[in-house]
Amino acid sequence: MHKPTFDVDAASILFNLSGYRVVSATPGVGVEQPRQVLIETTTSEGACPSCGVLSSRIQARPTQRVKDVPCGGERLDVLVRKRRYACRESLCPRRSFTEETEQLPARARVTTRLTEQVITACRAEPRAVSRVAHEAHLSWPTVMRMLTTTLDLDTGVDRRHVRHLGIDEHRFRTVRYLRDPDTHAVKRVEPWSIVFTDLDDGAILDVVDGRRGKVVTSWLAARPRWWRRRVQVVALDMSSEFRAAVRKALPRAKVSVDHWHVVRLANEMVTKVRRRRVWELHERRGRATDTPWKYRKLLTCAGDRLTVRQRTKLQQILAEDVELAVAWGIKEHVRQVLTATDTPSFQRHWARLESAVRATHLPEPAALFRTLLAWRRELLTFCRTRVTNARTEAANLTAKTIKRVGRGYRNHRNYRCRIIGYAPRPIAA
Ligand SMILES: [Zn+2]
Repeated sequence: MHKPTFDVDAASILFNLSGYRVVSATPGVGVEQPRQVLIETTTSEGACPSCGVLSSRIQARPTQRVKDVPCGGERLDVLVRKRRYACRESLCPRRSFTEETEQLPARARVTTRLTEQVITACRAEPRAVSRVAHEAHLSWPTVMRMLTTTLDLDTGVDRRHVRHLGIDEHRFRTVRYLRDPDTHAVKRVEPWSIVFTDLDDGAILDVVDGRRGKVVTSWLAARPRWWRRRVQVVALDMSSEFRAAVRKALPRAKVSVDHWHVVRLANEMVTKVRRRRVWELHERRGRATDTPWKYRKLLTCAGDRLTVRQRTKLQQILAEDVELAVAWGIKEHVRQVLTATDTPSFQRHWARLESAVRATHLPEPAALFRTLLAWRRELLTFCRTRVTNARTEAANLTAKTIKRVGRGYRNHRNYRCRIIGYAPRPIAA
């Protein structure tokens, strides 16, 4: 066990920085000048980083100011009296070297314990980096650099066993119009980000700049082979570009499409029919005096979850217009398909939907059915696995909260690090 070579004094015990002892402490004067403490290491020799030879010949004793955690409830002015040793090895190109410790590595101006405290503060809550920095008496770039360097080195993604992966996109800042410096043409820039989520626990794996399938392919290709082979189901919204990318990068994984998006498409189909019918019947837009317009929200409600009163109102609307009634029926058929939990029941409900659509001869249900047909395999995967993108949507909400708390981000790298850096659940292997 390590035994100190000096008598441990009370100040060093209270200051509690491992490897250091307090040389002197000066009381503070008002608010302007905080208490000052001078510390030095407890060892009296160091190993040369070039040749490894131990040396105890001190060449200089420079004093450096460093940032540290508050002590006794307030900030301290911490000065470190360092030792600069002369290398005794005559063949070594390095003439001298400064001591390094775990708490103060080479060139560090902030103690390791303060860095850890700041990173923990950023991880635990979606707080603004500027607030965390202000409390630690550090600058915003310093704290941001702490976050980016720890995460650039390792985000922990490749150590995870991801079975269910969620992919979704969101806009990370407002649309901008930028002028090309060469052609002077104005270009619309939409900064989109793709969020990758572990659907089993909702952890954000990564946030990548861009919204193309190519981005998804390259992100997946960067993962180790064993990682890719473990992914069983990937949940997407109905983006064919993402689907193609996943099929290419993860040929063994199944793609599941979120039921929420499918229900939304079906509801949009009902709304289209309602609008078209109003034009056909009245040659104008819908008004509050029209029954379908007045109760339009009932049309998109889940048919089996209506109260008796709502059901009566809905029957009123549907009795007025056969086409609307038919469209509503198709929407309910789509919802029925989504309730299936195995292949036979899925096929049964699908066949019913198909014959219902064929019987209608309406353009809107036919268009909806064509879209669903293109995603039939993914719908079946959803029904059998029930893997949804709900957790990715929650992750998107987290990202938005962080963005708002930070009053927006301009730099995607900072944005990414802040979002991945916020992990209330530890990223474990
Ligand atoms: Zn040396």
